[in-house]
Amino acid sequence: PPPQDTDGPIRLTDNDAALAKLSAVRQNYLSDPFIKYFVPRASFQPPRPPLINVGTFIRTVAIDDLVDQWIDLSTKEGRKCQIVSLGAGSDTRFWRLWTGPQKHCLSAYVEVDFPEITMKKAMAIRKNKDLSTVLGDVRLEQGGTALSSPIYHLFPADLRLDPSTALGSLTTATAGAPALLDPSLPTLLVFECVLVYMSPQESNALLQWFQTYFSSHNQGNLGAIVYEMFGLGDSFGRVMVANLKARNVSLPGATPYPTLESLPSRFLNLNFTAARALTLKDIRRTYVDPGELDRIKRLEMLDEVEELDLVLEHYAITWGLSISGSGTDLQAHW
Ligand code: SAM
Repeated sequence: PPPQDTDGPIRLTDNDAALAKLSAVRQNYLSDPFIKYFVPRASFQPPRPPLINVGTFIRTVAIDDLVDQWIDLSTKEGRKCQIVSLGAGSDTRFWRLWTGPQKHCLSAYVEVDFPEITMKKAMAIRKNKDLSTVLGDVRLEQGGTALSSPIYHLFPADLRLDPSTALGSLTTATAGAPALLDPSLPTLLVFECVLVYMSPQESNALLQWFQTYFSSHNQGNLGAIVYEMFGLGDSFGRVMVANLKARNVSLPGATPYPTLESLPSRFLNLNFTAARALTLKDIRRTYVDPGELDRIKRLEMLDEVEELDLVLEHYAITWGLSISGSGTDLQAHW
């Protein structure tokens, strides 16, 4: 028999994420004109339950807000910035930013995922004019698993491997061309639902490698956003883990930060200068626009109100900054 593909179930989680976003868009929770292009047979996909739609809404607006704020605070006086999305899957943030008011702030946007996923995404981009036209001059590379354009880049790699081997070409200048990622520019790393699939050693090595590269220049700042499940040791958390296990998805990165208080140490232990964390439950209560909460309440009937809080308190967003040089504004306001 062929050897078992143990990463297959992990890659399939991208499909779940994309279906959840498509459903939230169809049910009018979110607006995203691009996600449908990344879901095969999009118009035949059934909607997800209201609970999933609400969760997807909270998570998406929370991360979108953090990204928007970071861009605004990092690009004062006409500076440009870079974004690197790790385990980006079918995420559409690049197209949403590039067709919005912050377009001119971006000097590079890099997405990394397994080659099977980047190849699928590259094909979807090539097939669709709404996705490809805005990119400008598009080149497929590395057997169709990589895609390059003036700003947007799709890069295949296994993030569990030694970062300088897996990602070194992003930070290495070649004959005549500077490195794709400029160490002097403010740079934001986005890890949306990906670090749980790697061991703590592997994710620490990854964060440390980026931190070292960007702290070699004293003008920029490095920001990072991690969205993840946590607190999986309680009874509800154990059910979440068991559900994933039943689909052969293991979570080697789920245990090191068991509480909300422990989440910022993911960054602070690695010489980041500041870090904060909030659960989606707190974000819903405190940060999401009440008018929006009112609006989405009227979209669908949500029966499982208590279950919603239980789910939302098992997801957190942690964000950290590594600042060298100017960046106190960012540290105070982000
Ligand atoms: N970030 C996207 C989002 O939030 O919609 C996708 C999230 S999906 C749950 C997890 C993604 O991480 C998948 O696309 C998967 O292939 C990718 N991933 C997981 N482990 C990875 C690894 N070791 N190297 C590269 N990509 C990985």
